[in-house]
Amino acid sequence: MKTSDVIVIGGGLAGLMAAAVAVGRGQKVTVLTYGSGSLPLASGAIDFINAKSPEAAIKDLPAHHPYKKIGTKALDSAAKFLIDIAAKANLPYNGKFGAQIPIVTAVGTLKYSALVPESMDASTLADKKKIFVVGITGLKDFYPKMIADNLKKIFPDKTFEVIQIDLNLLGGRDITCMDAAQLLTDNEQQLANELKALNATADDAIILPPILGIMGNFSRDVVKTQLRAEIFETTCLPPSPPGMRLQRAFMKFLQSSGVKFFENSKVVRGVVEGKKVTGVVVENVVREKIFPAKKVILATGGFYSGGIKMRDFDNPREPIFDLPVFFPEGAENWSNPQLFSDKPQGFALTGIFTNENLNPIDKDGKVLYDNLHVVGANLGGCDKIFERSAGGIAIASAYKAATI
Ligand SMILES: Cc1cc2nc3c(=O)[nH]c(=O)nc-3n(C[C@H](O)[C@H](O)[C@H](O)COP(=O)(O)OP(=O)(O)OC[C@H]3O[C@@H](n4cnc5c(N)ncnc54)[C@H](O)[C@@H]3O)c2cc1C
Repeated sequence: MKTSDVIVIGGGLAGLMAAAVAVGRGQKVTVLTYGSGSLPLASGAIDFINAKSPEAAIKDLPAHHPYKKIGTKALDSAAKFLIDIAAKANLPYNGKFGAQIPIVTAVGTLKYSALVPESMDASTLADKKKIFVVGITGLKDFYPKMIADNLKKIFPDKTFEVIQIDLNLLGGRDITCMDAAQLLTDNEQQLANELKALNATADDAIILPPILGIMGNFSRDVVKTQLRAEIFETTCLPPSPPGMRLQRAFMKFLQSSGVKFFENSKVVRGVVEGKKVTGVVVENVVREKIFPAKKVILATGGFYSGGIKMRDFDNPREPIFDLPVFFPEGAENWSNPQLFSDKPQGFALTGIFTNENLNPIDKDGKVLYDNLHVVGANLGGCDKIFERSAGGIAIASAYKAATI
């Protein structure tokens, strides 16, 4: 097996981003992953931090926070890079680090994100006179009346009409947004006909679940060109077509750039010499195989994807390199009994601490391996769900790790 310039372990948002940035810089890249990570479940929007002034909020974060290691320059560059990759797959994204773009959620509230698929960007919704909220017969977990009722609270001056369309997808069986998006790919005309029949004008908006295909904006383009009203996709419960579209945009770029991508490949341990990682070991059904590398990016997704494991509650482990994992001490600091409150959850701070090069460090700040870089949900020191920073940390840490 030839030595890769960079091996990325993990094929989630952080791993895909790291691989794309590294190959874009002319490096020989191998990705080893045993699952697809959380992207097909995610909204497709990228949040950097939930704050009115993100740059100021990041300045005020404590020194151990991942953003303090990553630095704001990488946030900006990562945002531009992702927009570029998505655009190559006809998946236009709007926004930048610091932007606050509204999207309509599956319950009819507005959520503000920094990077948003153009099909979900609801910035112009406030200018519309009439809003059609469209449900699809048989589609699970999508309630157009609830969406209209909640949006009415935000836009009391607008007229709302709730419409139910029967596309007879899967013979009327219950379907998810992902099923609908798959079934409508290259088969959009019936939906376009139903929407045309609404006679919506340029002053109107049509709100739909995110079912306009699973590849880029191709299905949306077919429907949009036949309508005068603007259409907006909402978020949905997982699995999520907008997250899947972003994953496919990355995969398209990696495949066309010659990245070696090994699915169903579980990395079980690292091969190390002193402070250098020289390769990783993959376990498959018959034997173990060594993949040599000059540099390794660990994008294994923290608790959610097995990048960090915890058999005993106060003893979290990183299973590949046995890196030290930060965990808040004292049971009273592990959780906040109020699930929905203005405070983070202690256990969510669990993760690996690094230096500015994203090399793992021990509790005294000593670098353990200087060609191993830790990215994404593996990074400890913040509650990414509470502060709405998961996507931003994933892409910016990946960008930085791939450019060091
Ligand atoms: C339901 C949901 C909604 C979300 N919505 C948003 C949102 O609106 N905005 C936002 O900014 N973020 C959102 N996120 C979060 C964001 O998508 C994640 O933070 C981000 O995907 C984390 O990326 P990651 O690559 O670090 O980890 P993951 O996506 O978890 O990927 C980890 C990868 O590592 C692989 N792996 C693990 N161990 C090994 C091993 N030993 N060998 C090989 N491979 C391994 C896994 O199989 C997986 O492919 C959402 C997440 C979820 C789950």
